[in-house]
Amino acid sequence: MMIAPDKIIYLDNNATTQLDPAVIEEMLPFLTTYYGNPSSGYQFGSQVRGAIETARERVADLLGCMPSEIVFTSCGTESNNTALNAALLLDLARRHIVTTAVEHSAIHKHCEQLVERGCEVTVVSVDQDGNLDLEELEHAIRPETAIISAMWANNETGVILPVEKIAELARAQGVLFHTDAVQAVGKVPIRLSDSAINFLSLSAHKLHGPKGVGALYLNRRSAFRSMLFGGGQENNRRAGTENVASIVALGKAAELALETMEEEQVRVRSMRDRFEETLLGKIPEASANGDREARLPNTSSLSFAGIESEGALLLLDRQKVCCSAGSACQTGSLQGSHVLRAMNLGEDAIRGSLRFSFGRFNTEAEVDEALEIVPRVVSKLRAMSPRRSAAVAIA
Ligand code: PLP
Repeated sequence: MMIAPDKIIYLDNNATTQLDPAVIEEMLPFLTTYYGNPSSGYQFGSQVRGAIETARERVADLLGCMPSEIVFTSCGTESNNTALNAALLLDLARRHIVTTAVEHSAIHKHCEQLVERGCEVTVVSVDQDGNLDLEELEHAIRPETAIISAMWANNETGVILPVEKIAELARAQGVLFHTDAVQAVGKVPIRLSDSAINFLSLSAHKLHGPKGVGALYLNRRSAFRSMLFGGGQENNRRAGTENVASIVALGKAAELALETMEEEQVRVRSMRDRFEETLLGKIPEASANGDREARLPNTSSLSFAGIESEGALLLLDRQKVCCSAGSACQTGSLQGSHVLRAMNLGEDAIRGSLRFSFGRFNTEAEVDEALEIVPRVVSKLRAMSPRRSAAVAIA
C-alpha cells in the first residue's frame, strides 16, 4: 500500500521536492486540452510554442539571463552531460577536464566514461569544510583543458563553491566553465548576465517542478555543439519533440521560486537552523558537516558518532521521517558518501552521517516531531552498537 503523503515528515528536499499546486494547475491543460505539437504551423500548435517561450522567459528571469540562452533538456543529468560533451566537441585537441571531488555522479560518472574514451580528468580536492582549493584548481588548468566543471552548491552538505570566481579564472585562461547548479537554482539568487559562466545546469524537480525536465543555460557568446540530432527544436540545440507540459511546469516553478525566494530563504533557514542547533545541543558526539556560512539555507548534513546511517534511515523510515545518508542516489551503497570522504572526515563521521533538507512545504510542527524522533533513533542505535557498548564497558 502506498504511504499517504500527509503522514510523512519529508526532510529530503535535496532528493526531490513536492510539486507546487500552482505548477500542477499550469501544466495540466498541456496534458489534456493543448496537446498540439509546438513545431506545427497551425494555431493549435503555435499556441503551445508560445507557452514554451513563456516558460523560457520565466527560467531566464530566475537566472538573470536572456531567454535565448535557455535550452530545455530532460533533466539535470542531461544538462551536465551536454555541457561537458559540447566543450570536448568544440575543440578536439582539448581532451582535459578539471572538476572537483564533490561533484554529483552526473559529472563524476560521466568523467569516468570520458577517461575510458581517452580524456584526462583532474579532480580538485576540498578541505574539511568542503571548500575548494582555488590555487590547486588554477594549477590544474593546462593548455589542453577543454572545460572546468564545478558545482554551485553541494547536494549533500549544501556548501556553496565560489563559482563566479572560478568562471573568471577559467575565462582568463581561455577555458570554458560549467556549473552544476541543480541544488542552487531557486534556493539562492543567481544573476548570470554579467558572469563569466558559459554553461549552467538546473533541474525542475528540485524546485517544486516535475521530474524529467531540466534546462541548460548557454551563454550567448559561447559556441555550442548539440548532443541530440534530429528535428530543429530548441533552435537546433536539442532535438526531440518538447516535453511541453513539463517545460510549462518548469517555467511556473521558476516564476514561483523567484517570487518567494527572499521570504523562503529566511523561513527555511530558520527552520533548518533550529533543527540543527537543537539536535547538536541534545545529542552528544554529534557534528555538522561542511562550511556553516557558505551553505544553502535548506541543507543540514549531520554526523552522529557510533551509529550506522543505514540503520538510522531504517528506523527513521518506520517513524515516517524521510531523509538521506549522503545523497539519495547513494543510499544502499556501502562505501558511504564520496563527498564526506573527500572532506577527509573520519570513518565514524562518514558512517554515521545523515542529510536533512528542508523546503517550501515543511512546517515548524514537522520540525518539532522530527526533533523528538531523531534523538530517540540515535540513542536506540547507540545502545544496540556492539562497538559502543564495549567502549562504555571499558570506561
Ligand atoms: N546534480 C546535482 C547536484 C543533483 O543533486 C542532482 C540530483 O540529485 C543532479 C545533478 C541530477 O539531476 P536530475 O535528477 O534532474 O538528473
